[in-house]
Amino acid sequence: MSIWRIPLADIDLGEEEKAAVTAVLERRWLTMGEETQQFEQEFADFVGATYAYAVSNCTVALHLACLALDLGPGDEVLVPSLTFVATAAAVRYVGATPRFVEITSEDDLTISPQALVDRITPRTRAIIVMHYGGYMCDMPSILEIARKNNLFVIEDAAHAPGASLNGQKAGVWGDVGCFSFFSNKNLSTGEGGMITTHRQDIAEKIRILRSHGMTALTWDRHQGHAWSYDVVTLGYNYRLDELRSTIGRVQLRKLEANNRRREALVDYYRQRLRKEVPEVSIPFSEHPGRSAYHLMPALLPLGVSRVEFMEAMKRRGIQTSVHYPPVHKFSAYQGIALFHGGGLPLTESVAQREVTLPLYPMLTETQVDEVVLAVREALLEIQPV
Ligand SMILES: *Cc1c(COP(=O)(O)O)cnc(C)c1O
Repeated sequence: MSIWRIPLADIDLGEEEKAAVTAVLERRWLTMGEETQQFEQEFADFVGATYAYAVSNCTVALHLACLALDLGPGDEVLVPSLTFVATAAAVRYVGATPRFVEITSEDDLTISPQALVDRITPRTRAIIVMHYGGYMCDMPSILEIARKNNLFVIEDAAHAPGASLNGQKAGVWGDVGCFSFFSNKNLSTGEGGMITTHRQDIAEKIRILRSHGMTALTWDRHQGHAWSYDVVTLGYNYRLDELRSTIGRVQLRKLEANNRRREALVDYYRQRLRKEVPEVSIPFSEHPGRSAYHLMPALLPLGVSRVEFMEAMKRRGIQTSVHYPPVHKFSAYQGIALFHGGGLPLTESVAQREVTLPLYPMLTETQVDEVVLAVREALLEIQPV
């Protein structure tokens, strides 16, 4: 039982997922089989990617992306700081240096194209963008910058399965797209992820790196296609199993409808918050493209204590969260040569004021009303006039 009356997130899981898992168990083939292959094909078709590989999680997808693009020591990779730490950690796994880049504005929390240009050095090799909350980064501008400066583009699309801009989905704009199926994401399998690309050379590297650097896989041997193999590179075991893949296939079929439901809830939230608490600002007010509406971020008025606000929400049984503490402020990221000088004032100011409100497909309009009422009461309670 949850301690929350209204939790931050919840999963749309039911009989279909149970039946799918049971069917896989009864087939007695639990890894790298038909379910995973079909999940990959269906996901590739859904986002419009030429290649898609299921992996253990998005963190390893990001690692594989850096490996497949041959990033390494001496290379700099431009990343947002207003993201989950894995975006930057992947750069460090391969010995390259993350350089943190400012967000666009208080309304657009995605990486700023102008700030990207300002941080390019002769060592810069790649950009990792993150579609914050499911809202697309300015991909046309970012691709243009990448093309001019000969940089790779990796999309951390953990928040954005199904999001699109100019009719093109997240994860297929850059060289590689990385998705997460962690339990609080729009499509969840517990742990899990997907890596997409349109480049055949990168696809081949990813396929081999994902499974120990081996040329022939267990499934091929099971099918009688191969009995021997070579190991051609230092590889990893970053695979996804059949149980998670079959859950992923069911979840993928629900994704579009669930994203539309999230959209309706966000529209309703915006309308209600604007009316009841106009001093709270809601980012992405006029964002181009179609969001996957992963998060419902709000910015508290300047001077309001976020800790007290979150405590007041908790007393009302409503779970809130923060997306994100900026990565460049973490202990493990101190002392890395991150800046040419100066900090990230916009990122830091937004990160201090941001609160994420509950959002998931099964949330009701009545519950949104309750959350909005609680926001109003909480603000009154902690700043008595
Ligand atoms: C969740 C998340 C990840 C990591 O995903 P895992 O599947 O948990 O490894 C990476 N980046 C962002 C932006 C995320 O939200």
